[in-house]
Amino acid sequence: MTAGVRTRSVPYARCHVVAEAHEAIESVLASGWLTTGPQTLAFEDEFAGLLGAPAAVAVSSCTAAIELALRALRLPPGAPVLTPTLTFCGAVQAIVHSGLQPVLLDTDERTLTVDPATVATVAGRVRPQAMVVQHMGGYPVAIPALADAAGLPTGRVVEDAAHGLGGAVAGRPVGADSVAACFSFYATKNLPIGEGGAITTTDPGLAGVLREMRQHGMSRDAWRRYHPGASWRYDVAVDGMKANFTDLQAAIGRAQLGHLPAWQRRRAHLADRYDRALSAVPGVLLPPRPADGRHAWHLYAVRITAPYPLTRDALADALKSRGVGTSVHFIPVHQFTYFRALLGSDACGNLPVADRVAEQLLSLPLHPWLTDSDVDYVCDQIADLGRAGGATCA
Ligand SMILES: *Cc1c(COP(=O)(O)O)cnc(C)c1O
Repeated sequence: MTAGVRTRSVPYARCHVVAEAHEAIESVLASGWLTTGPQTLAFEDEFAGLLGAPAAVAVSSCTAAIELALRALRLPPGAPVLTPTLTFCGAVQAIVHSGLQPVLLDTDERTLTVDPATVATVAGRVRPQAMVVQHMGGYPVAIPALADAAGLPTGRVVEDAAHGLGGAVAGRPVGADSVAACFSFYATKNLPIGEGGAITTTDPGLAGVLREMRQHGMSRDAWRRYHPGASWRYDVAVDGMKANFTDLQAAIGRAQLGHLPAWQRRRAHLADRYDRALSAVPGVLLPPRPADGRHAWHLYAVRITAPYPLTRDALADALKSRGVGTSVHFIPVHQFTYFRALLGSDACGNLPVADRVAEQLLSLPLHPWLTDSDVDYVCDQIADLGRAGGATCA
């Protein structure tokens, strides 16, 4: 290519809202009922149905979902909760907000999630009362083995499934058999609504409690108080927060949901295409694939290692100048000022795999609206920069 000429623009992310959603929004606006109501109830049923989960509770975000699921465990204040350090900061803030103590786990170099041996070692030391498991990038994690390693029943495992939607493990969709699996509908996630989240659960009693907790602990939400024949009375029997989902979000979500299976197939196709092209580039390590299960392909994150001639940061800059957006998932939580101050330097000091891997990870564009030739362009740039040793162009 010609030096300095941007031949193409491949943004890191894109959020597409299908045409049916625009129409659905109009009818919700016209109905006059904008907050949690009939659209939310229908979305919950359809979302649970898609996963084969007994129930789903829609909430304002995945972060709120994790907090609600942890609060509903009714653990003593300050109880230790295991969490990967290579995760989204909000997922660890949720542990803090629920009054519990995050205990950070180092990364499994092979899967970029956490491995049972690490969990067992840390659990032996801190006696955790719960654990948050994250399906990193969409790699589906088997919950029973990790729960066992932590010495916890599976009911004490809260799944952060923000990356897991569409994945499957041991023949079952992520979230189908979980006591609490938390999903995100943030703009870049696999089911984009803009904002929003949901908890799927096998426990109908818990679903009822979560429906109260998302609405200040009120025993009846406004829809149930104001529809014909209903009473205005309500009790507040449990703690709660403001974390409800609106019918406007539900209308978008219901329209998007029908497209999810096709979007997931497209993500898998693009991941295969990336794999084929990048497997020929020395030093570019491909994302891990599960031996038993279906990857959700939320991210396509490679690792940039020797002998690739550029560092991850230099490659990200060079790709940017060639029109390709990238991102990093994640800066490990223990590297942030706030968590270092909160948890102390001991808890944040000995997480060597996460520290090393975090310098290598680079998320490439991956979304259903990316074309095959976009992927080819990205891979050509990475191969070209690899050959040139970063000495040309840009
Ligand atoms: C996006 C994300 C969240 C938070 O989701 P929100 O819906 O924005 O609260 C939590 N965990 C992980 C791993 C995420 O990527």
